[in-house]
Amino acid sequence: MDYKQYIKIVEDWPQEGIQFKDITPLMDDGNVFKSAVDDIVTYAHKKNIDLVVGPEARGFIIGCPVSYALSVGFAPVRKEGKLPRDVVKVDYGSEYSENVLTIHKDAIKPGQRILITDDLLATGGTIEATIQLVEGLGGIVAGCAFLVELSYLNGADKLKGYDILTLTSFE
Ligand code: AMP
Repeated sequence: MDYKQYIKIVEDWPQEGIQFKDITPLMDDGNVFKSAVDDIVTYAHKKNIDLVVGPEARGFIIGCPVSYALSVGFAPVRKEGKLPRDVVKVDYGSEYSENVLTIHKDAIKPGQRILITDDLLATGGTIEATIQLVEGLGGIVAGCAFLVELSYLNGADKLKGYDILTLTSFE
């Protein structure tokens, strides 16, 4: 399916100079959303996934239906101060923000095969930080899946050696 037509471009949001890619029209259409989730599930089936991990907030929107379809768990990666128990953390920067990401210390068992999901790959900072958290807990990053890649920001360069699926790309 051509998913690009369901992504709305919003100029200068959340700040001037950023061309925001809004995935809500894709989510709004049940058939299109299901097709996108199914494409990621098909990819994940080949990778023997034990657990899906996604950064807040839009990583949850993609990751949770995928984990449900795979009958595996989902572990949230959240900004500092949001998870209630012991966490490990890492600093990161994305296309338009800087922050700290955290994951519960006991979210991943060493050797588990992890699928990381997010809505969009921009500079790769968010996914790089998520990979650090997963690997820090002994998880194996078996794949990373995104609805959208902004290939002009070269985020994939940060993911050399990792397997990536993107459903549509903006050049
Ligand atoms: P990055 O860390 O730069 O790869 O940014 C990826 C994260 O920030 C994802 O969680 C996206 O939801 C969000 N993001 C960054 N840039 C954009 C953009 N241009 N449009 C929509 N979301 C974006």
